[in-house]
Amino acid sequence: MSHVEIEKSLNFLEKDWDIDPVLRDFMLGKIQEVTDYPVKVKDVIFHIPFLTKEKKYILWKCYWPDCHNCCNRQGRLPLTSEDLITIGKGMKYQKTSDFIKNETITTTWSESGPSGQTATMTTINLKRKTDETAADDGTHVSCRFLDGEGACSIHPTRPGVCYLYPFSTWLENEKGKARVHTTFQFTGDCPGFYLADTIDQMKQVLKEYSPVIYDYNMKSNRTTRENFGFVSFS
Ligand code: SF4
Ligand code: SF4
Repeated sequence: MSHVEIEKSLNFLEKDWDIDPVLRDFMLGKIQEVTDYPVKVKDVIFHIPFLTKEKKYILWKCYWPDCHNCCNRQGRLPLTSEDLITIGKGMKYQKTSDFIKNETITTTWSESGPSGQTATMTTINLKRKTDETAADDGTHVSCRFLDGEGACSIHPTRPGVCYLYPFSTWLENEKGKARVHTTFQFTGDCPGFYLADTIDQMKQVLKEYSPVIYDYNMKSNRTTRENFGFVSFS
C-alpha cells in the first residue's frame, strides 16, 4: 500500500478520531528509527514496533462498537478454504460451489511480505457488495454485511481476515517446524493504535489473539517460501 493511499485513509479517519502526530508520521514512513520487538505468546511471535528515538512501543486495541471503520472501508476479503465452507453454510448454501459462484470473486493482486519483498496472490474473495467486479478490488467499500447497529450480520461465520484485522500474519520455517509470526498492518483505517512505554497494556490482547492467529494460519493453506515471499491460497 502506498503512502499516498495511507495518507488518504488517515485524512478520512481524522474526521472522527484523534491520531497521534507521531503515529501519523510513522504510518507515512517519516520515522526511520524503528526496531522490531518480538514477543512470543504461546505459539505465535508478535513483532511489535518500537520507536527508538521516542522510546515508545506501538500498541493496539479495538474500539468496536464505537468504531467499525474496517468494515466501512473494506478493501478485499480473501477467504480461506475453511471460510468457503463455513460462510457458505452460514448463508444457507447447500453446495459450496454455488456459494463460490454467487457470493465470491477471484482476483490477483500484489502484497509486500515481511522483508519487503513483493508477491503476487490469487485469492477467492467474499463480495463486499453484491455487484462487485474485479475492477473494485482494493478500493474502499462499505461491506454489505455491516448492519445498522455497526455489527457483522454474518457473525460468527465472518471471514478469518475480519477477526484478524489489523494483524498481518505469515509462517516461517524454524528448524523444520512451522512458526507463526504476526505484525500490524498500518493501512491508515484503524484508530486503535497508541504509543506506550511498555507492552503491559496489550498483554491481554496478545493472549486473546495468539490462538486466533495460530488457527487462522493453520487453516488458511497459505505458506511463505523463505526469501521468496507469500505463496498462494490453494
Ligand atoms: S479493528 Fe480498528 S478499525 Fe476495526 S473496529 Fe477495531 S478499532 Fe475500528
Ligand atoms: S464480513 Fe462482517 S466483519 Fe467482515 S468486513 Fe463485512 S461486516 Fe465487517
